Amino acid sequence: MTDLAAFAKEKGVKYFMISYTDLFGGQRAKLVPAQAIADMQEDGAGFAGFATWLDMTPAHPDMLAVPDPATAIQLPWKPEVAWVAANCVMEDAEVAQAPRNVLRRLIAEAAEAGLRVKTGIEAEFFLLTPEGDKISDPADTAAKPCYDQQAVMRRYDVISEICDYMLELGWGPYQNDHEDANGQFEMNWEFADALVTADRHSFFKFMVKSVAEKHGLRATFMPKPIEGLTGNGCHAHVSVWDLDGKTNAFASKDGTGQTGEVGLSEQGAHFLGGIMKHAEALAAITNPTVNSYKRINAPRTMSGATWAPNTVTWTGNNRTHMVRVPGPGRFELRLPDGAVNPYLLQAVIIAAGLSGIRSKADPGPRYDIDMYAEGHKVEGAPKLPLNLLDAIRSFDADAGLKEMMGAEFSASYMKMKMQEWNSFVSHFSHWERENTLDI
Ligand code: ADP
Ligand code: MG
Ligand code: MG
Ligand code: MG
Ligand code: MG
Repeated sequence: MTDLAAFAKEKGVKYFMISYTDLFGGQRAKLVPAQAIADMQEDGAGFAGFATWLDMTPAHPDMLAVPDPATAIQLPWKPEVAWVAANCVMEDAEVAQAPRNVLRRLIAEAAEAGLRVKTGIEAEFFLLTPEGDKISDPADTAAKPCYDQQAVMRRYDVISEICDYMLELGWGPYQNDHEDANGQFEMNWEFADALVTADRHSFFKFMVKSVAEKHGLRATFMPKPIEGLTGNGCHAHVSVWDLDGKTNAFASKDGTGQTGEVGLSEQGAHFLGGIMKHAEALAAITNPTVNSYKRINAPRTMSGATWAPNTVTWTGNNRTHMVRVPGPGRFELRLPDGAVNPYLLQAVIIAAGLSGIRSKADPGPRYDIDMYAEGHKVEGAPKLPLNLLDAIRSFDADAGLKEMMGAEFSASYMKMKMQEWNSFVSHFSHWERENTLDI
């Protein structure tokens, strides 16, 4: 176990950023001088939980964020500071609804069944002007801007700085590109254990925003920041391994890659079955904002496709469905968007997948069609929720998923999200005036 005081001494760290993620995905931190870190490592840093999105009242006792020293990262762009992910504790008990705790509990549950979930994520983002209303590069106007060589080079200073940092941190980054919307980018690094990926996902968002700010820009992971352009997805690639992490339980046992129609082992097919079965409900977590529903169910974008799903269907190597099985041994969930909470994303995948394995869930038929053009041919496939309220209600109706995610978490999440929805609908919009004034 890393001793944070020794870590500080060895690396010349002056401050630790003890960080936790609340239910809405906000990262909250206290800056603790290295001189005080030894006590904080034991006891945690104190927070008033009510002041963040955790479903607490002002009367609750202090919440303590206890750093997980294995996660400490010296900020490559500010080496005198180190970030460390923390677990939330109150009166000696883990805070049940805190996202990192929810994920850790589900990872332990999977381990009890002899399973170890590994995931990789693709957290797309836009680089905007500091005001956040326009893309930052006025020359980035192509109708099909994906992989635009000239445009990615105009942002080389930002992209290469972030990629250099990922190389330094040993994440195994392997490609960077301009994505399908003007102003949009994607950077990929290697998959890892679900908790490692969740911590890296959190840190990646912090790093991208920080480096963008340094260059006078604003990075956003908002699901649909610009009307008419492709939105920010956060696809998750998932595989399940034995506990020593050497054998992929989703691949065929004989190593031939022959896994039948699904392209996954029987266990993999059941895990996928769980994702399919709970999809409408888990959207409340993978697509957690009002704006999320402008990405899924969206009209065609300027580039020609949204690249986001609108029905609960799966397929082989075809990017028009909710789930793609690109090859043997893993599947890609294309539903999540950039607003997803990094910990709850991994947690809900494990929750739905484990419940699928337990109930031997059937993933249903495989559709080898262009879902955007031929979706009308599919009968009986459920539609994804049309808005956040739909998703919250689907989540509430799914007792099995709520139980897997934990009763306390589920109740808190529902409550906070309903409050958010009510705040949205009570907002008087320009659209209403335009469409109702003369009625
Ligand atoms: P896409 O073709 O969907 O754009 P990317 O290359 O952008 O794919 O991202 C693929 C992600 O999937 C990476 O994070 C990669 O490490 C991860 N990945 C690859 N194989 C597996 C696997 N067996 N299990 C989990 N994740 C995987
Ligand atoms: Mg105070
Ligand atoms: Mg990708
Ligand atoms: Mg992409
Ligand atoms: Mg993808």
